[in-house]
Amino acid sequence: MAASEREDGFTVLWLQSGGCGGCTMSLLCAEAPDLFTTLDSAGIRFLWHPSFSEATGEEVTAMLEAVCAGETRLDALCVEGSLLRGPNGTGRFHVLAGTDTPMVRWVERLAAVARYTLAIGTCAAFGGVTSAGPNPTEACGLQYEGEQSGGLLGDAYRSGAGLPVINVAGCPTHPGWVLETLMTLALDGMGDPLLDDLARPALYTDHLVHHGCARNEYYEYKASAEVPSDLGCMMEHMGCLGTQARADCNIRPWNGTGSCTDGGYPCVNCTAPEFEEPGHHFLETPKVAGIPIGLPTDMPKAWFVALASLAKSATPRRVRENAVADHIVNSPAKEHDGE
Ligand code: SF4
Ligand code: SF4
Repeated sequence: MAASEREDGFTVLWLQSGGCGGCTMSLLCAEAPDLFTTLDSAGIRFLWHPSFSEATGEEVTAMLEAVCAGETRLDALCVEGSLLRGPNGTGRFHVLAGTDTPMVRWVERLAAVARYTLAIGTCAAFGGVTSAGPNPTEACGLQYEGEQSGGLLGDAYRSGAGLPVINVAGCPTHPGWVLETLMTLALDGMGDPLLDDLARPALYTDHLVHHGCARNEYYEYKASAEVPSDLGCMMEHMGCLGTQARADCNIRPWNGTGSCTDGGYPCVNCTAPEFEEPGHHFLETPKVAGIPIGLPTDMPKAWFVALASLAKSATPRRVRENAVADHIVNSPAKEHDGE
C-alpha cells in the first residue's frame, strides 16, 4: 500500500543512540525542497524524533509501548548512532531517559514489529567512529560489526517486509540518501535487488565518489596534489579513496554545492565499514615500491600502472603546474607550451 493511500501516512520512528547527532543535523540540510516539505509531500509522518518532536517523557514511553504492542503501525524504524551493548552486554551504558530500559532493548523490541528497519549513518550501520579503538562501550551496528554481519540484531534478522536492515551509511549520511530511501519505501518500491552487497541502497552506492569529481582531469594525467591546498588529484599522495568509495557525492552535491574532494579533503570512504580505522593517516596514501596499494576497484593493477606511467609522460604543462598550486596558475586560454 503506497503512503498516499494510507490515511495516516508512512510512519517513521527515529531513535538516536551512540553517535554525534550529525546525521540528524545533515537531514536538516535537505533542500529543494526542505526536509518537512519533502516529508509532507511524500506522505511520510514522524511518530517521534528526539530533536523534531515536542512529545517527551511519559507521552513517548506510551507511544513506544503502543508500537511494540502493535496498536500503532510502524513502517520504518530509523536508528542513528551505534548500538552500545556495554558494559558486559547489559546495554546500560545508554538507558533511554525515563524508562530505565537500555536503548538496545528498545531497539530489539521495535525492530521486531517494524515493517522496515534502517540504520541511518555508518555508526548505526557498521559501528562507525563510536566503535573505533578499544571500543569500551561495545558499540556495533544494527546488523553489522565492522565488516562482519551480525551486530545487535543478528545476521538472520529480517524486518516485517522481509528485508535485512537497510544501511543508509555515510558519516554523516547525505539527506538525499535518507529521504530518497524513505520515499522509495513509502511507495513500496525497494526490494533486495536495490540493496548492494552491504545492504546499502543502490540508489547512491551504484556510483563511486570519483564519478564527477572536479579533479578528474588531474586524475587522468596522474597530476597529483602534494599538500592539502593543491588542486591536483589526491589519490597518489593524499589518501583519496574516491575510486573505491561507493557514493554519489560528486554527482549529488552536499548543501547544493560541493563534496569532500571539492572542499580540498580526500574522500575517506565514510560509507564503508571500518573506514574509521584505515591503519594509516587519513591524509596519506599507503604505497609499496612507490605504487599506491588501494588502486581503483574496477581496473587490473598492471593496466593501472602502465596507464599511469603513460599518462604522466603525456601530462600537459597546464595540468602539471595547476596540480601543485592552490589556484589556477595556467589557464587553457594561456596554454601554448609547445610540448
Ligand atoms: S581526488 Fe579522488 S575522487 Fe577526485 S579524481 Fe582524484 S581519486 Fe578521484
Ligand atoms: S566524499 Fe567520501 S568521505 Fe566524503 S562524504 Fe562522500 S563518501 Fe564520505
